Amino acid sequence: MNKYYEILGLKPGASEEEIKKAWKKMALQWHPDRNPSEEAKVKIQEVNEAYEILMGKKQAPREEIPNHGFRNPFDQFRNRGGFRMKARPLNLVVDLTIEDVFNGTTKKIIYNVNRTCGTCNGVGGTKKVCTVCSGRGFKNENNFAMGMNVFSMCNSCGGAGQIFAEACKTCSSNGVVNQTESVDLKITRGITHASKMVYTNSGNDVPGANRGDIFFTINVLEHPIYTLEGLNLHKDEEISFIDMVLGKNIEVDTLDGRVKFTIQPGCEANTTFRLTKKGVTDDEIGVSGDLYVKIVPKIPKEITPEETQILENLRSSTNFS
Ligand SMILES: [Zn+2]
Ligand SMILES: [Zn+2]
Repeated sequence: MNKYYEILGLKPGASEEEIKKAWKKMALQWHPDRNPSEEAKVKIQEVNEAYEILMGKKQAPREEIPNHGFRNPFDQFRNRGGFRMKARPLNLVVDLTIEDVFNGTTKKIIYNVNRTCGTCNGVGGTKKVCTVCSGRGFKNENNFAMGMNVFSMCNSCGGAGQIFAEACKTCSSNGVVNQTESVDLKITRGITHASKMVYTNSGNDVPGANRGDIFFTINVLEHPIYTLEGLNLHKDEEISFIDMVLGKNIEVDTLDGRVKFTIQPGCEANTTFRLTKKGVTDDEIGVSGDLYVKIVPKIPKEITPEETQILENLRSSTNFS
């Protein structure tokens, strides 16, 4: 967990407020619009991931524990009544930025998946009859205390009646090898957070079962500037309070280029402008959302003695007192 605090330049155990603040700062610093370098592409992913994990929105990836044990790969998926079971699906989370959702994109998703071992064809090694149970899979013991015969599963073969004569070295008798594969996932504009896409019969191979599916769950990351509500986008635009008093023609950044509009004299704080169809377009239903721009006064943290003087004079004038 500490690793994620470090990515955001924080001490372990920092508060949610501190995490949010650090993320906002770094997300702006490494945002591809502001920083087109290759380093920024990697950094922004790291920063977003650390934020999501520390805020509890996403689980930290768990390190895969390699299975070196000598186990029976058929245990879980033994053929029951002639039906082949399907392996459990592989669940993958696809992180998308609001820009990805706005523009649509193709994402290369790289993942690890189990594939049937080519050396042993998924068997796990060569097999022989279990000598402990003579292939029956159970033991028959006299239990004198209870005065009866007790049948119990053979521990040596786990009830299978067979044991490995020689383990497959390629897959350590797992029957499968873990390998890296990738898929180009087409992201249509307007795709929704938490929606799922299925990639049928491309998931894990499990000995004795049909190949599983892959489920991709869309995770739209928080954005330092925009928030997404359905297809509508929201952003705050900081404007000098003087411009709000006197009015001004301004230009605002949107995901679709800059847009001009007029601040009328006497504009109040939190006045919201609606820019029609400047939100996200959903390609599947052919509908576009709007962009809501909230005007927020920009208050300088430091001012010069001259500015102080001007404002002091203004403070005592009728309309400002
Ligand atoms: Zn093998
Ligand atoms: Zn046995």
